[in-house]
Amino acid sequence: MGGNHHHDSGHSHDHLHHHHEHGGDHHGRQAQDSSVYDRLLKRISANPVTVPKSPSVKKALALLFSREEAELACRMPGGLENTAAIAKIAGLPYQKAEKLLENMADRGLLFDFDRNGEKYYLLLPAIPGFVEFSLATPRNDIPQKEVAALWKQVRENDHYELFRSLFGINMETQFGRIVSYEDALRGNPAQEVCSYDRVSQLIEESKAVGVVYCHCRHERRLNGEETCSHPLEVCMTLGVTTEVFSRHHIGRRLDKSEARELLARTEELGLVHMLDNVRSKPAFMCNCCSCACDMVRSFQTPDEPFHVVMTSNFIAQIDASACTGCGKCAKACPIGAISLKKQFPPREGLRPLVDESICFGCGVCSKSCKKEALRLAARPQRVITPETALHRMALTALERGQFQDFILANPSNLTQKTAKALLKAIFTFPPVKRLLLQKEINSKFLDFLYDSAKKSKMGWALDLL
Ligand code: SF4
Ligand code: SF4
Repeated sequence: MGGNHHHDSGHSHDHLHHHHEHGGDHHGRQAQDSSVYDRLLKRISANPVTVPKSPSVKKALALLFSREEAELACRMPGGLENTAAIAKIAGLPYQKAEKLLENMADRGLLFDFDRNGEKYYLLLPAIPGFVEFSLATPRNDIPQKEVAALWKQVRENDHYELFRSLFGINMETQFGRIVSYEDALRGNPAQEVCSYDRVSQLIEESKAVGVVYCHCRHERRLNGEETCSHPLEVCMTLGVTTEVFSRHHIGRRLDKSEARELLARTEELGLVHMLDNVRSKPAFMCNCCSCACDMVRSFQTPDEPFHVVMTSNFIAQIDASACTGCGKCAKACPIGAISLKKQFPPREGLRPLVDESICFGCGVCSKSCKKEALRLAARPQRVITPETALHRMALTALERGQFQDFILANPSNLTQKTAKALLKAIFTFPPVKRLLLQKEINSKFLDFLYDSAKKSKMGWALDLL
């Protein structure tokens, strides 16, 4: 893991020191502490994709953000803002705000962008966001072991609430999508396989690629759980995420040939490609396993009301005439979607059967079949993939009745507050919401939204996302 940096700067010690102080605090100070983390949790919860408001999450926030940082973070607007504007909103001197913002960006709690020599910052959601990023690389300026122990508690004790906060109940648009192994797509007519279905193309087109730790496996290992022996350093960052991360020494950068090698290695290991659910400029590609990833595992419990990740556009198909019934595919499928069934005479032996209700079209099974008897065929209906991150976020907000929060991200502005109330009334009025969710209307509407955002003063940021 040569490229990872262990931070040992002055502020790291301050940060840790601050946490050690917690235990000895007198009551007044503790009340103040808990209220700032309450407010931070509330601020994070304005995002349609959020985390449970549980004591473990609050404790984790207190480990990740110092009190001063939390105070600033919970005042940050929903969109991008420059240092001067954030300092003003937070009532802090410029230099103080700058220092706090930089320290948070260093630890993967914020994203920062440079525009004509000026710094802009974006407070990230918890997931996908700073929960993963805090464990994306081994470092000592975050008490990772304690953070990991708390996320384990959230995963185990607040499972339902965690999934409900992240994915909604039976919501259609999600932040991740499965992308098939390209080899498994052989035999499909070229027009059936779009460019955004081709993982190698997405990597080639990405302006920067990096690799970070899989935060799921990292969390489990920090907790002493030996769930699997899959490697830690296999999840990829793409485009802007790589650029932000390399500025802050999170993970390490790969050149294109290293990225291709890593892609091949993940497929040798039978890991599932889970990408950012967008067609252009995806920001990440996780390489998951059912041993450590709760999102992949959830396909094994299809009775839960959560649709956690978009499937690929393909589904496993077995060529009975070429299949020898060896059963390797059934062993390889990470979610047990293939079972072996006894054949009736005149055929002998076992034959694999795909459970189409759970197969998410990853292609891992196809790689394991040495008889070329298993490939992925196009699903009868294509899965809708949002064009950009903005389209995806708008769609998610719309589906979850939080659209007003999405377009008016600055709660401190009174005029916006009024407009927000109005929009809430419009968008939560069922016929309007239903109308907007109709595919033809919403794609036009989202394009309109994108064009308007592009013309706004932060339009430049859309080229990054
Ligand atoms: S791995 Fe191939 S040959 Fe073996 S059971 Fe599966 S489809 Fe048949
Ligand atoms: S059967 Fe399993 S391994 Fe094969 S594509 Fe479906 S989910 Fe992936």
